[in-house]
Amino acid sequence: MNIQMITKLLTDAGIEENEAKIEVKMLLEHFCHYTELDRCKGVELSDNQLDILRQKAELRIETRLPVQYIIGEAYFMGEWFKVTPDVLIPRDETEILVRKAIGIVKEERAKNVLDIGTGSGCIACTIAKNTEAVVLGVDISSDALRIALDNVTRLGINNRAVFRKSDLFSKVREGEKFDMIISNPPYIPSGTELQLEVRHEPPEALFAEENGLEYYRKITEQAPEFLNNEGWLMFELGLGEAGAVKQFMEQKFKNIEIIKDLAGIDRVIYGQII
Ligand code: GLN
Repeated sequence: MNIQMITKLLTDAGIEENEAKIEVKMLLEHFCHYTELDRCKGVELSDNQLDILRQKAELRIETRLPVQYIIGEAYFMGEWFKVTPDVLIPRDETEILVRKAIGIVKEERAKNVLDIGTGSGCIACTIAKNTEAVVLGVDISSDALRIALDNVTRLGINNRAVFRKSDLFSKVREGEKFDMIISNPPYIPSGTELQLEVRHEPPEALFAEENGLEYYRKITEQAPEFLNNEGWLMFELGLGEAGAVKQFMEQKFKNIEIIKDLAGIDRVIYGQII
């Protein structure tokens, strides 16, 4: 057995080649403490290390668990976040949302941000880490909030990102106001068939009624009550949802902008309260 043969186990099981190579790299680093640098230097893997790598690759193939759940971590905007099947794995697309949010928070000197459906806390923690703002993350899942709290500790930003169990705004107190409300809500239309790996992610983090629009509608309706003057509302968007979400927002928000992802898909929408 060598690294190439183990990579081939993954590609033979239908995992795309580039993805398989990345996954092998992640398994090697995590379980064998063998880095890219070691590989460049020509450091040999021991039989024991190769055996561990093979076992983990087989687990990946048999269970179809995403590699991030196997190693218990996911990389997002320069940090490793703890993840378990209780939380959605942070996606590359979410970086577009978070980068824009950080830009606005800095420019407008926003003091407090509300992240709805915080999950792993990746959005809340990254904004808190990169700005002066304090971020409140809310989620309906206690299990998710436990992970988010671990991530705050990992990033060393205690008291800058705080968490509360809340079904959308239900436990956000009357009179509690924010300069920005941000969310990457569940947006896949209920009933959509998913890739095997995605089926391990929590359904309540993925699916939404009303053709995937349920949470955009609910959040947009309630957001004005919890936003300061000139406050911002920002969402990540699912495929083909920009038009409908823009319509929800237009009644109460101005300066609405949409950002596309690398695939040309409308991925982020944001606007400012009228
Ligand atoms: N806020 C988290 C993320 O962006 C979780 C989102 C979700 O579970 N829908 O990854």
